[in-house]
Amino acid sequence: MLVHTPIARQVRFDDGLKPNSTSTRETTVTRLTYIGHATVLIDTLGVRILTDPLFANRVAHLRRQAPPVDRDATSRIDLVLISHIHEDHMHLPSLRSLDPPPRVLAPAGAVPILVQAGIQNVQELHAGESAEAGGVTIVGTKARHSRLRYPFGPSAEPMGFVIRGSKSVYFAGDTDLFDEMNGLEPNLDVALLPVWGWGPTLSRGHLNPRRAAEALRLLRPHMAIPIHWGSYSPIGMSWLNPSFLTRPPREFKRAASEIAPNVEVHVLVPGAGAELVEGIWNAGT
Ligand SMILES: [Zn+2]
Repeated sequence: MLVHTPIARQVRFDDGLKPNSTSTRETTVTRLTYIGHATVLIDTLGVRILTDPLFANRVAHLRRQAPPVDRDATSRIDLVLISHIHEDHMHLPSLRSLDPPPRVLAPAGAVPILVQAGIQNVQELHAGESAEAGGVTIVGTKARHSRLRYPFGPSAEPMGFVIRGSKSVYFAGDTDLFDEMNGLEPNLDVALLPVWGWGPTLSRGHLNPRRAAEALRLLRPHMAIPIHWGSYSPIGMSWLNPSFLTRPPREFKRAASEIAPNVEVHVLVPGAGAELVEGIWNAGT
């Protein structure tokens, strides 16, 4: 049975962007770049969208192990999507560094924190609502994850997003499995799925490689790209060259071949991109 996320209302999102139709190629190509952790650049219909921007070499007790972020690659962002308020997903210094300031879509409860931090152009989106940006439709989806930023608050509802451009892309944020993944977006092109965290073990509310493969069975995308791996580790652990930095995508690909064999899994290392043209995957862009 297909369970579709109902669209409760459409959010007006007047960002001044016009649908881009400069060339046939621009209207048919979706480019995806895995910046690292949960940060992905989605370039579709001429609209540059960044998920959960995190550029820092250090955040809380974590140090970046992936190559430094190429800030040219993350320039001229039109729209930022914030999935939830954990510091490694809603990182205020990274958001402040985006120039010019892009529009930001964030879940209920995140907006006051962002506004207080001086982030401009913030708009609240709930699961089931949609917004428009330059011909791209963004739909908020459910996520199953902790609501708290710190142990004692503040709190906000976590969410994911479906980005409907020249291809449809699902960005899960941080989540565990939930029933409504079943048919969440009909004919989904690409699922960006978290397959790990940042340490040797995973806390509740995250997908490990096998559970992420279970998510593919429910979502039924044409392709999947594992994210949330290979980017950060606890300070002091990097000299161990821990396998959790490299193993999760391989385990995900293996599990997906058993559980969801019809889904193509493409692994991008942090910093790598690819483009999707009419169902053809061009890696290494
Ligand atoms: Zn989180």
